[in-house]
Amino acid sequence: MPTGELSPGVPIEVVFTLGRLFGQISSWRQAMDEVIQVVRPHFVFDNLVVYWLDPDTLNLEVCYARATGRGKSAEADVAWGEALSNQVIEQRRLVLQEPPETGEDRLQRPYMLGLPLQVGETLLGAMIFIRFGGPPFDPNTFPFAEFLSQQLAQAILRERLAHEVSRLEIQYSGLQAQEDFISALSHEFRTPLGFIKGYTTTLLRPDTHWDTTTQREFLNIIDQETDRMQELIDNLLDSARLQTGRIKMNFQPVRLDSVLNDVIARTQLRHPELEVRLQLDEPLSPLLADPQRLAQVFENLLSNAVKYAPGSPVSISITSDAEGVHLTFEDRGPGIPEKYRQKIFERFFRVPDVQPSVHGTGLGLFICKQIVQAHQGQIWVESQPGQGTVFHIRLPWTP
Ligand code: ATP
Ligand code: MG
Repeated sequence: MPTGELSPGVPIEVVFTLGRLFGQISSWRQAMDEVIQVVRPHFVFDNLVVYWLDPDTLNLEVCYARATGRGKSAEADVAWGEALSNQVIEQRRLVLQEPPETGEDRLQRPYMLGLPLQVGETLLGAMIFIRFGGPPFDPNTFPFAEFLSQQLAQAILRERLAHEVSRLEIQYSGLQAQEDFISALSHEFRTPLGFIKGYTTTLLRPDTHWDTTTQREFLNIIDQETDRMQELIDNLLDSARLQTGRIKMNFQPVRLDSVLNDVIARTQLRHPELEVRLQLDEPLSPLLADPQRLAQVFENLLSNAVKYAPGSPVSISITSDAEGVHLTFEDRGPGIPEKYRQKIFERFFRVPDVQPSVHGTGLGLFICKQIVQAHQGQIWVESQPGQGTVFHIRLPWTP
């Protein structure tokens, strides 16, 4: 072996340069232009095509083509190389293909050298070098070409494995999110179910007699907890259907103030301590909207205020202009930290660190946003941590 060579036929500086080029860059394609610069002084060719063997279909696909020399475009060689690369793949070894010695146009007489791209037993594809009109490839340069194909095969395999790892990571985090969601959901169901079971068993105890007042009290709790479970199921179904656009809005002329007054009255039945201040400056024209769905939005916002800003009054204002109506729901609770403000409208998102005793599934605001958007409106939040939260809704007169 001549001095200065690590692999037979390959100058030592080429070994190091290729190692550096393929090693540094995550995509081997990015390295290829520079690789060709390094290789060409030692191994002459006009064009180079790399074929990739699809592991699922076993089809060959061109993944890189470069015309460095005379005359031809890289695209034109792709078809020429395909037959040879099929042979290379089949035989898993270097294959030489030379044109007949005729006096035809040089560009019609390609000399082609094909090499498999493989690491161990793993066959990844083939690379084809093309010289137009000769000279024929010198067998003394084959070790160089083989060295290059090994380096390239390793770079391709590395990239493929890196993709596979990131695909698995994404899949795993999806599974993890699903698992987190199911455990959050089970927890949400278990709490009302626990109450229902507990109070029913207590009422049914054969050894105790409960007076009518106590019985009614227990039955009321069972009733409320059943409602909570019903609400949970409705929210889950709604959020799934709204996300896939399977809920149709039932648009009709709606008086927003009367929808709001109904919602306030209903919420105060459940939470008599809730103080709501409704501010409506002028009589409001009817709006084309789905009254039930809007009521659902307002209920969610009020129930959030009860849960996350307990003890605070809620101020609701309605104003209107030529485009539509603007509503605000303002509380003086703890507020929402800046970094979570966009995320609270995402499905299942709940601000971490809120008291664990405050129940919820993170569906309410997601549902609100979907409903408001189905009305061609917008919903957003402003908040000063420690001072309170304002939810804004804009709805056009007609969706
Ligand atoms: P669900 O509404 O499904 O019962 P949830 O109330 O947790 O559950 P959202 O209504 O979507 O879900 O609210 C998302 C999160 O936003 C809440 O978990 C809470 O952390 C935060 N949040 C919502 N409203 C307020 C508010 N008025 N003040 C402070 N934080 C709030
Ligand atoms: Mg909520």
